[in-house]
Amino acid sequence: MITVIGQSTQLGALPDWRQSLRDAVTDPRELLELVGLSRLAARLPADDAGFALKVPRGFVARMHRGDPADPLLLQVLPQLAELDEMPGFSDDAVGDLDALQARGVLHKYEGRALLIAAGSCAVNCRYCFRRHFPYAEELAAASAWRAAMDCLAADSSIREVILSGGDPLVLSTQKLTELTQALRTTPHVIRLRIHSRLPVVLPERIDDVFCAWLAGLPLQRVVVLHANHPNELDASVGAACARLREAGATLLNQSVLLRGVNDDADALAGLSEHLFALGVLPYYLHQLDRVRGAAHFEVPDARARELVGTLRARLPGYLVPRLVREVPGENAKRPL
Ligand SMILES: *Cc1c(COP(=O)(O)O)cnc(C)c1O
Ligand code: SF4
Repeated sequence: MITVIGQSTQLGALPDWRQSLRDAVTDPRELLELVGLSRLAARLPADDAGFALKVPRGFVARMHRGDPADPLLLQVLPQLAELDEMPGFSDDAVGDLDALQARGVLHKYEGRALLIAAGSCAVNCRYCFRRHFPYAEELAAASAWRAAMDCLAADSSIREVILSGGDPLVLSTQKLTELTQALRTTPHVIRLRIHSRLPVVLPERIDDVFCAWLAGLPLQRVVVLHANHPNELDASVGAACARLREAGATLLNQSVLLRGVNDDADALAGLSEHLFALGVLPYYLHQLDRVRGAAHFEVPDARARELVGTLRARLPGYLVPRLVREVPGENAKRPL
């Protein structure tokens, strides 16, 4: 498995965020100890159910000690339920492997091309639809990113380039600079969108060097964060959002609807309110992609619609996320 790409070649100490990334908790027993739940160790699946635990310490610090149902803990802790084989839950739930154009480029939707810029993330989310994705082969940044960029530059229908992954912000800013160099001279691309969970789980990533790069791009900039519960948003996340906005980015958030984590109206309304206070608008609320090992997180569509109906009654329209599902082969996310 590829962990970190574009290793920093600077002399001296690693940037702080790199050190935080490296110091992430990877041992489930240690995580349980940190949150005062060592007694749950007997319930851990062998081999992390085939998808390693990984969570930055700053995110662990936002979990409530002693609460086995903590909504942040549940997103990252391997569970025995992941081993249950459920019909309809597969390895490539969203048909990404069929949509690959060049290595690392997904061009499924008109005008937007998504670049798989990195193979890893700062956090491993148990519900992730990419937990089985063969990153080692389909990684734009590893070796073939120039071919991927050529592919984007050659297609004048592409208005927006989306950096995704994995998480593109685990790449060094140097690597991001190289990746986006070609976009400076590709007139049909007017917008860069970054999908990242780092501003939430590792906010120190949004450092001066990164902000200077972002602010200097001759493109419209959108950063789509990924937070699922208001407890994820502390002052450090607020500071990262402020810096992103100063660098000229429009901030949006996408969430995944997760049983036991955020499938209640108070959590979702609280999330929207907190996000707005940080200058972030809710964008999508995704119904879970039906990926093997994540069935225990699924919320029925009827319940999902009911929750969004409650939000619509309680919140201004701009704080109600769009409830969507990704359906393989469709030309956009499908509204529910
Ligand atoms: C989700 C997604 C997009 C972006 O879709 P929007 O509705 O514009 O947010 C683009 N490309 C791919 C492959 C996607 O999965
Ligand atoms: S791609 Fe997003 S949801 Fe999946 S593990 Fe990485 S950060 Fe989590």
